[in-house]
Amino acid sequence: MTLRLLQVSSEFFPLLKTGGLADVAGALPAALQHQGVDPCVLLPGFPSVWSGFVHERDVATLTMPWQEQVRVVRGWLNGQTAAYLIDAPALFDRPGNPYEDVSKRPYADNHRRFAALGWVAAHLARGADSQWQPDIVHAHDWHAAWVAPALAHWQRSNKQPHVPVVYTVHNLAYQGLFGRHEFNELGLPASAFGMHGVEFHGMLSFMKAGLYYADHITTVSPTYAQEIQTPDQGCGLDGLLRERASQVSGILNGVDDRVWNPQRDKLIPAVYSARNMTGKAVCKTALQTEAGLQTEPHAPLLAVVSRLTSQKGMNLVLETLDLSVEQGAQWVILGSGDAWLEDALQAKMHQHPGRVSVRRGYDEPYAHRIFAGADAIVVPSQYEPCGLTQLYGLKYGCLPVVRRVGGLADSVVDTTPETLDHKTATGVVFDHFNAEGLRYALSKVIQLYAQDKTWKQIRRQGMACEFSWDAAARQYVLLYQRLLA
Ligand code: ADP
Repeated sequence: MTLRLLQVSSEFFPLLKTGGLADVAGALPAALQHQGVDPCVLLPGFPSVWSGFVHERDVATLTMPWQEQVRVVRGWLNGQTAAYLIDAPALFDRPGNPYEDVSKRPYADNHRRFAALGWVAAHLARGADSQWQPDIVHAHDWHAAWVAPALAHWQRSNKQPHVPVVYTVHNLAYQGLFGRHEFNELGLPASAFGMHGVEFHGMLSFMKAGLYYADHITTVSPTYAQEIQTPDQGCGLDGLLRERASQVSGILNGVDDRVWNPQRDKLIPAVYSARNMTGKAVCKTALQTEAGLQTEPHAPLLAVVSRLTSQKGMNLVLETLDLSVEQGAQWVILGSGDAWLEDALQAKMHQHPGRVSVRRGYDEPYAHRIFAGADAIVVPSQYEPCGLTQLYGLKYGCLPVVRRVGGLADSVVDTTPETLDHKTATGVVFDHFNAEGLRYALSKVIQLYAQDKTWKQIRRQGMACEFSWDAAARQYVLLYQRLLA
């Protein structure tokens, strides 16, 4: 019988994206469908999500524990993906970022907004739609985590059959923390507010709720699944994760070939493939021109496409950029994030005119042009659950320079005499999260770039890597089947 899966998340590419979560939520349903699954996604009714939604039918009007009523409708997203939306304008009809207001302050009612997402998922799992009921629920990150405790308590009190919940952590550091007072509104019994429940040091933690109550926890790379079980990267939740170690696993994200493929990409000036790279040279010149850099075909062009935060190692970029420019490199940087980093990086642009270009903001088409035109993508993260930009870099012949951590460690093979011999090298990997570590890696990539034959070999090997969503979807299906058995 076909496995019916309800995917719950707050973002969905291409309709609403603030980071990698959206790419995953947007790509996974189609990949699961390839594997014979019947997926349906559930999303909050944010304005940009409505813009891609075609209504099919009304499903139910549900009352939340705080007595607010929300309508649930079913239809299609982008004509392809079956979807439920929560029609609750008072909660979700706000422009811009889904989590915070224009001054970057989290909305004061976020606990209710995302508990609503969890409660609606739980209702659907319990049969709120008479025409479609999921066998399993897959929730992504803290915004969707509330379905796990909601279902657990419901099933316990009504002796209902069990609908397993898989909870995927895309970033353990974003936890959805609220006060005890907020907990009281959200419909769980008081007993759930404790160490064996949703409490985290006197606070309500949505992340912990997901980790504690889900039937299985996944992360977006095998290495990150291990790292979060250590005090260093466990964000205070490593004890719980170690207790649940047998129910924690990692599945590496894929790349959505419909969106990221240099042979077909309509957003880049010229298409190319590993066999014929002339288009890449065209893209490089076009990028240098667009970014206001000197159009030197032989200058190593290094790139950053990232949230500008210290998690992403942007402070290290700041410290090492001058030397790499002296060594002949150019930089093209696209990102938004911490104001001090945005300002400091922009100052570097003025310090190195024609060598460094910094664009603030979020610009999806420009990101494509950067991967196509640049020679290397720099991802020096402090921690990295999976990381997608190094995967896009590999596909676009833009060599990843990464720190050996999380999904970066799982997806890039460092260039050494051995890996060159074995034809497995795909990029440059460094160990220590400090300026010295990155400086070493940047010098190495600049030197490799000067060795044309070696450079082309590494680039070819990187472009041949497969990070397909089909492979990831197969692993998720095996997991779902195991939980249902
Ligand atoms: P995270 O989700 O932690 O931010 P990931 O590497 O997993 O990091 O995913 C980031 C995604 O967001 C990638 O698709 C990347 O291309 C994209 N991205 C990041 N910053 C920008 C930006 N300023 N403009 C366009 N795309 C961006």
